[in-house]
Amino acid sequence: MKIFNTMTRRKEEFVPLEEGKVKMYVCGPTVYNLIHIGNARPMIVFDTVRRYMEYKGYEVNYVSNFTDVDDKIIKKALEEGVSAQEISTRYIAECRKDMEGMNVKPATTAPLATQEIGGMIEMIQKLIEKGHAYVVGDGTVYFRVKSFRDYGKLSHKNLDDLQSGFRALQVSGEDQKEDPLDFVLWKPKKEGEPSWPSPWCDGRPGWHIECSEMSKKYLGEEIDIHAGGEDLIFPHHENEIAQSECCNGKIFARYWMHNAFLNIDNRKMSKSLGNFRTVRQISEQYDLQVLRFFMLNAHYRSPLNFSADLMESSKSSLERIREAAARLLDRKAAASVPSLLEAEAALLEEAKGFEAKFEEAMDDDFNTADALAAVFELVKFANTHAGEGCSAEFAGALLEKLTRLCDVLGLTLGEKEEILDEEIEALIRERQEARKDRNFARADEIRGELLEKGIILKDTREGVKWKRA
Ligand code: AMP
Ligand code: ZN
Repeated sequence: MKIFNTMTRRKEEFVPLEEGKVKMYVCGPTVYNLIHIGNARPMIVFDTVRRYMEYKGYEVNYVSNFTDVDDKIIKKALEEGVSAQEISTRYIAECRKDMEGMNVKPATTAPLATQEIGGMIEMIQKLIEKGHAYVVGDGTVYFRVKSFRDYGKLSHKNLDDLQSGFRALQVSGEDQKEDPLDFVLWKPKKEGEPSWPSPWCDGRPGWHIECSEMSKKYLGEEIDIHAGGEDLIFPHHENEIAQSECCNGKIFARYWMHNAFLNIDNRKMSKSLGNFRTVRQISEQYDLQVLRFFMLNAHYRSPLNFSADLMESSKSSLERIREAAARLLDRKAAASVPSLLEAEAALLEEAKGFEAKFEEAMDDDFNTADALAAVFELVKFANTHAGEGCSAEFAGALLEKLTRLCDVLGLTLGEKEEILDEEIEALIRERQEARKDRNFARADEIRGELLEKGIILKDTREGVKWKRA
């Protein structure tokens, strides 16, 4: 399996640190709004990487954080007159709903920055002890970039060029820094902002330190893959490398993967430009599996332009796969011959070629567009050869192949699975607990979640009753 490594700018054979295991960290969203489909790109892409690794037999430990303390969250909280925590809790729940709709598997661990402050403080302390960080008058702690010889190795930037660029940009008020390149590890609190005590001042961490800390805590000092959108290469990932490698004295991540931008009218989709579509908006018009198909029909390192036409063609392509699957299911049920016919055995051998093509594409730096082409070859093959007289075993075997390959891409072939009675009961119990704890927000959220799945709750004197709408 080859992965394009941003660090070396080459496709490299994937060799895990520990045989059969993959430790993977993907920088997660800052939660102050509904996520847009640009944010959805890394979620879908790296979920697919994970699924393919699992298909190949690796055990994947997948960590992806939520940045739940940040200037934008604080600003939104002030606007609404609520706490920053209320904003982040709300949008984490919304983000999880969108992820579920896009069939993005929950991470093995999805840590929240605000729950990990102690570890960040320890890391900063160690960096100060080792001379890689320093405290200034107001208690701000900066990372001393010049103390890390390898700074710039990921983004292939030269320290001198960076320095002249930064000097031009130097902002007043930041002159306590030894060097314009230095970045913040800890900053003093401002009125009305969330803050934590620390040896330097009450305050909060800088953004970059959270990923260094959470990656170390949940995956260890050395990991296999670190990933995110390409805008994170500099400065975020460069700074993460500086912090982690100076603190731990080890190479932080072996492979660095970055997805290209999702654009609209050939400009990056972003909250600040206001040119975004939320995943929620798309879900009003399409099954989110269509969005997933649209994303995977391009290579993750190529820019992708969002357009209504492409969404429509993704919709009909996905339908073609689903129709083939439905036909195979019918053939299987209606077949009068149970076991493979002689000619079918040879055809099944031939069909293995599509799986091989699929794997070859995925092994080549996760070329999902070519992998989808292999899926379509299988679809065409099934439509041609699984005719009315085919055996149940033949139709079943082709359906199984199709389902397995689509599952690697996170594409489901039928309608969404129905929610099971046990799951409903468990959610109702959780809602009762939440109400007992006077956590009415969570209780309402559960009612909403169930309603979305077509389950109506009724509070009666005998307890909670439910029915399917
Ligand atoms: P943010 O919430 O801005 O920190 O972004 C969360 C993730 O989404 C990061 O990995 C970003 O690189 C990624 N991202 C944001 N906008 C886009 C976009 N237009 N295209 C692709 N990835 C994006
Ligand atoms: Zn990060």
